[in-house]
Amino acid sequence: MDYYSSQINNLIEQFSTLPGIGQKTAQRLAFHVLNMPEDNVRRLSEALIEARTNIHYCKECYTLTDQEICPICKDPARNHRIIMVVENTRDLAAYEKTGKYDGVYHVLHGAISPMLGIGPGDIRLKELMTRLEGEVDEVIVATNSSLEGETTAMYISKLIKPTGIKVTRIASGVPVGGDLEYIDEVTLLRALEGRTEL
Ligand code: ZN
Repeated sequence: MDYYSSQINNLIEQFSTLPGIGQKTAQRLAFHVLNMPEDNVRRLSEALIEARTNIHYCKECYTLTDQEICPICKDPARNHRIIMVVENTRDLAAYEKTGKYDGVYHVLHGAISPMLGIGPGDIRLKELMTRLEGEVDEVIVATNSSLEGETTAMYISKLIKPTGIKVTRIASGVPVGGDLEYIDEVTLLRALEGRTEL
C-alpha cells in the first residue's frame, strides 16, 4: 500500500489490529476518521485513552469498571448470596439488560480451552473460590454453551461441589456455540429460570 502516505498507512494498520476489522474495513475507517471534524477525532481518541487508563477490574466480581467496586457489587438491594458466573463483561451486560436478575456476578474473563492452551489458572477461578468462603447460597454457571463454556461449567461444578454450595447451570435453549450477548432477553430469562442443579 505504497500509494498512501505513511501516516495513513499507520492509521489503517492500527484499525486492522482490532477484532473483526479486515484490511478493507480498516481503510474505510481510516478515511472516515480523516474526514471527521478535528474536534470529534480528539474526543474519540481521548475516550479511548481515558477508558484504557481508568477502567480496571472490580475488586469483588472482576467486571470492568471505573470504580474500585462496581455499582452492582455496591448495591445493597441485590442478593449477594447468589453469584452468576459469566465469561465476560458483555455477558454480564446481557443479563443486566433483562432487568430480572437481582443477584451479583463473577466475571471469569475467558473459558477453559485445552485447544487454545487456556487452563483453569488463566481465568478468574481462584478469585471465585475465595468469594465462596463468604456466605453464598447458589452459584449459577452462565458460561456459553460452546465446548469451552461447557468444559468450564463442568470444571466449576467439580470445584464447588465439595463446599456444599448449590451449583446450577442455565438451561440450554441457548443455541450451541452461541455467544450470550447476541441472544435476546426472553431466551436469556428462560435459560435463567430453567436452570438445573449440576
Ligand atoms: Zn463488581
